[in-house]
Amino acid sequence: MFNYDYLIIGGGIAGTTAAETLRKNDSAAKIAILEDEKHLLYSRVFLPRFAMGEIGLDKVMLRTLNDYEKNNIDIFLSERVVKIDFEKKTADTDSGKNFSYKKLLIASGGRAEEWQFSDGIKDKVYRLQTLDDALGLKSLFEQKPHGKVLVVGGGLITLEFLNIFSKYGWEITLLMRERFFWNGLVEERGGELFNKIFLRGKINVIAGDEVHAIKAEENILAVRTKGSKILHADAIAVGVGLKRNLEFARGLSTASGIKVDNYLKAGDGVWAAGDVAEYVDPFSGKSKTIGNWTHAFLTGRIAGINMAGSPAKAGDEEFRSTASYSTEVLGAVITIIGEIALPEAETFVSLDEVSDKYSRFFLKNGRLIGAFLVNSQQIKPFAAKLIESEKNVSGRENLLFYESGLKELLRDDT
Ligand SMILES: Cc1cc2nc3c(=O)[nH]c(=O)nc-3n(C[C@H](O)[C@H](O)[C@H](O)COP(=O)(O)OP(=O)(O)OC[C@H]3O[C@@H](n4cnc5c(N)ncnc54)[C@H](O)[C@@H]3O)c2cc1C
Repeated sequence: MFNYDYLIIGGGIAGTTAAETLRKNDSAAKIAILEDEKHLLYSRVFLPRFAMGEIGLDKVMLRTLNDYEKNNIDIFLSERVVKIDFEKKTADTDSGKNFSYKKLLIASGGRAEEWQFSDGIKDKVYRLQTLDDALGLKSLFEQKPHGKVLVVGGGLITLEFLNIFSKYGWEITLLMRERFFWNGLVEERGGELFNKIFLRGKINVIAGDEVHAIKAEENILAVRTKGSKILHADAIAVGVGLKRNLEFARGLSTASGIKVDNYLKAGDGVWAAGDVAEYVDPFSGKSKTIGNWTHAFLTGRIAGINMAGSPAKAGDEEFRSTASYSTEVLGAVITIIGEIALPEAETFVSLDEVSDKYSRFFLKNGRLIGAFLVNSQQIKPFAAKLIESEKNVSGRENLLFYESGLKELLRDDT
């Protein structure tokens, strides 16, 4: 049995930040991180640029073994936690090791939603969640500089695949179930804008259809869709969402993630942070998980502070922040701020067809709770501040669409 004061499941940005914060606040404690992958902390955000050959592994890797040693943090790689006993305060791993802890942080993130493929097909299917996935893509492009890819799905990782395969000049078909990309988050006009962006990027879009069967034919895959189309591809790139890693957390309250309070506490002596934590967004009131690097970093830091409990402020650092995410696809900048998937939200939209600027604002009870922006990223900090200010903007929604209008709403005391 390995005995620790603080045990951390997951060596991603949330878990690593928590461990380093704990060390700053508790110089004598025994701290360990258990990590399923064989790699030290790396940037998932940089994986697309790494797969595109724009940056090397040195930029992707964020820690060396020496960094852990310097902080006296034990890191166990290729060690997957399979069971936790929350009463006995022990954790077991797939290699048969047993750990005991005084306080536990679960920062296990998520994995790409599973999809079973038979032999002969599996090795031609690409995902993009881990460094190994990105290494797999790099070796595909080394072996096959040009080809045809079928990109399946309708989320952020799908967009990364479009960028990557475009960069290598592959012929791309995008297959998505929905009528429009990000249907629901953007409405009809936003959907049309995405079609325009894809067309400009020479992407062949098949909407409202999905994979029915895949057959390996000599060196190519033949994909039959539910709509009876036959598509041929050298590779399939799948971006169909993230499933949180929480199977081992039986006994805690879970929904889409591990439920935590405002202090990131999940139970007696247990905290959760990063992508796996589900918390109640104070601005929209929605219980949600977030897939965002800065959010994972911030929650990791706050969990670390609260687990250590400084003498002045014993474990009461509250998490209260608006998450935002920006990415670029085929030259268009997409920005998502706050909560954009609340069915009862009231929405306000503007589209400038010349500059391809699109914004959709989401309001609840007259207060801004989220925004979806295309090519309008300069207003992000003001929109985020307005969400956090919780000001009522009823009747003045037209001011949301401009930086000067947002500033006016922020200044206004009414
Ligand atoms: C390709 C890609 C691009 C992205 N781009 C952006 C971006 O531009 N901006 C942005 O804000 N966010 C981006 N993200 C999202 C961001 O990277 C994540 O939100 C962030 O990495 C989450 O950090 P985390 O520490 O919570 O979880 P993770 O990084 O998922 O780390 C969790 C770790 O826990 C380990 N683990 C899981 N289960 C177990 C277990 N049972 N035992 C032991 N270890 C376990 C996993 O192996 C994993 O390493 C991107 C993600 C990807 C994949």
